[in-house]
Amino acid sequence: MSARVIDGKAVASGVRERVTAEVSELRSPPGLATVLVGDDPASAVYVRMKRADCAEVGIESFHHEPGGDVSGEALAQLLASLNADARVNGILLQLPLPGHLDSEAMTALIDPVKDVDGLTPFSAGLLAHGRPGLVPCTPAGVMELLAHAGTELEGAEAVVVGRSQLVGKPLAAMLLAANATVTHCHSRTRDLGAICRRASVLVAATGSPGLITADMVREGAIVIDVGINRTDAGLTGDVDFEAVREVAGAITPVPGGVGPMTRAMLLVNTVAAARAQLEARR
Ligand code: NAD
Repeated sequence: MSARVIDGKAVASGVRERVTAEVSELRSPPGLATVLVGDDPASAVYVRMKRADCAEVGIESFHHEPGGDVSGEALAQLLASLNADARVNGILLQLPLPGHLDSEAMTALIDPVKDVDGLTPFSAGLLAHGRPGLVPCTPAGVMELLAHAGTELEGAEAVVVGRSQLVGKPLAAMLLAANATVTHCHSRTRDLGAICRRASVLVAATGSPGLITADMVREGAIVIDVGINRTDAGLTGDVDFEAVREVAGAITPVPGGVGPMTRAMLLVNTVAAARAQLEARR
């Protein structure tokens, strides 16, 4: 029997409705600052979509484009001014930055209370310590999809393929916090297929199109495909969707799976940051 296809767009739409209701309960609209450096067309599209999402749910956005040749010092000053601006509850520094700037060092300058991408070392440290603050949007979106699909994580065998700071590592920490038994795979893993076949929850976040084939999937497993790959055949994930859906119990499509959730979780994080800042001022 063919797997249930999890509609990320529909789940994300439910999350946005929830956020809209939460925003309307706040005294003033939360604010998100977006910082776009350079002229990467994909980054420009992502930032435009994120700002449109904000407008839809009632979050104010403040956009900054300091120019592709901005110095590290000038960008640091901009981030410091946003850290100090009470109207700004969240700061999104769109990555990647142009080569002359150190992305990690720049990201680390964001005040952790405004770190709505969850990418500062402070936020990563809290997550690793099991006391999560603001967490990265993509893995948070994966957790939301798993919850929506009614996945029992307690004691489940979960396999995460990919160990980036952005997706794989925080997701493994979140699954562990949900009491799953987590195996973390990467490009040096031996016999990936045998490990993946053990999983009742299998997440692929590698950027390697079609890496996960049907023979690597346990019957009835829930398969979450984080990958977004632009190939000659169009946009594809890391999972051989058509073949794997014949084995899996549930599966996310690309596009229309994790992608919409990533955008929705940025809104969730911005409202959470606004609430926490209001609370701290009391
Ligand atoms: P990354 O390049 O930083 O990390 C890729 C990880 O995959 C590495 O840890 C590497 O060890 C592992 N890997 C690569 N090839 C492998 C292989 N053949 N076998 C096993 N492991 C392998 O990438 P990232 O930022 O984590 O993104 C991963 C994918 O997810 C990309 O396709 C990216 O576009 C996509 N992505 C999607 C969203 C979304 O919203 N859907 C968000 C972020 C990233």
